[in-house]
Amino acid sequence: MQPIRMVDLHTQYERIKAEVDAAMARVLESTAFIKGPEVEQFEQELGAVVGAQVISCANGTDALQIAMMALGFQPGDEVILPVHTYVATAEVMALLRLKPVFVDVDPRSFNIDARQIEKAITPKTVAIVPVHLYGQCADMEPILAIAAKHHLQVIEDAAQALGATYTFSNGEKRQAGTMGTIGTTSFFPSKNLGCFGDGGALFTRDAALAERLRMIANHGQRIKYHHDIIGINSRLDTLQAAILRVKLKYLSGYIRSRLEVANYYDQHLDNGRVVVPHRSENSSHVFHQYTIRTERRDQLKKHLEKLQIPTMIYYPVPLHLQKAYRQPEYPEGCFPVTEELSRSVISLPIHTEMTSEQLAYICQAINTF
Ligand SMILES: *Cc1c(COP(=O)(O)O)cnc(C)c1O
Repeated sequence: MQPIRMVDLHTQYERIKAEVDAAMARVLESTAFIKGPEVEQFEQELGAVVGAQVISCANGTDALQIAMMALGFQPGDEVILPVHTYVATAEVMALLRLKPVFVDVDPRSFNIDARQIEKAITPKTVAIVPVHLYGQCADMEPILAIAAKHHLQVIEDAAQALGATYTFSNGEKRQAGTMGTIGTTSFFPSKNLGCFGDGGALFTRDAALAERLRMIANHGQRIKYHHDIIGINSRLDTLQAAILRVKLKYLSGYIRSRLEVANYYDQHLDNGRVVVPHRSENSSHVFHQYTIRTERRDQLKKHLEKLQIPTMIYYPVPLHLQKAYRQPEYPEGCFPVTEELSRSVISLPIHTEMTSEQLAYICQAINTF
């Protein structure tokens, strides 16, 4: 049996090596390393897939920062986000001197608990940032309704959910990242659409806002050396765009492979021992992570390690208990669901190259623990 990995980027590369190498050689020959034609072509192609304008940038964290800069938030403004998420979401708020306002998550979906958002809103609130965690959309219909009622912007952090589809109660379907004012995503190598370094993008359906995002990502300029607004240096490398153009063609296949792994786990893991991921009725799941819950999490992790099965904990320390993000109004115990999840979640290997032999071995190891 091949060694089991959390992600297997090497085998994935081997399968498309000829195409990727040719695309990279094209860029090297052109030497158009920054803002080469492949960047715009990639934006067009991804835009057609998600149904929004795409503005590429250097990484998913920058994408969040650019979004918050574009919407003109001022120091002291409050932004609501789930407390069970990756640090990047809160980090950019702190950098812009905004106040992260945490909300607990739903224990089944792991996403922000829409029923708890309204009580976190104050006169200073300017936005809600739902995170589509592990590959499944947050419950956007009620979130958008709350935002509309209170005149708040919505920035979706879709770094883990590119390609997930949300279905509204009227039957309308939208892609993750295209429902709020702005959506953001990441092309970090291990993400569902990963490049060979850092990369990110913003989505919007508003042409004027798209122009503003594009300017901010490029030093606030529309015309070179004419800076109309304050921006940052955050561009997607041409090499990464060329690689992403190749991989984008395989994205739906990659998602299908992940779904097959998730279906296998669902069917073969013993429900009495572990809680398998909940599938929401209104969102598809692209399984960036396959995250189970168990009371004896740390022992299970050690047991699997001994059997050469890697696992990861996303996330072991909730944001409100992180040294850098502690605030007196968020003492230990104030977000019971997130705190419980930080003790019970464990993510199993899931990627596009897993074999049925590996899956059977992992399920057997968990079911006999
Ligand atoms: C990966 C990730 C990011 C950050 O993306 P980078 O490209 O690594 O900067 C932001 N939010 C979430 C939820 C992520 O998973």
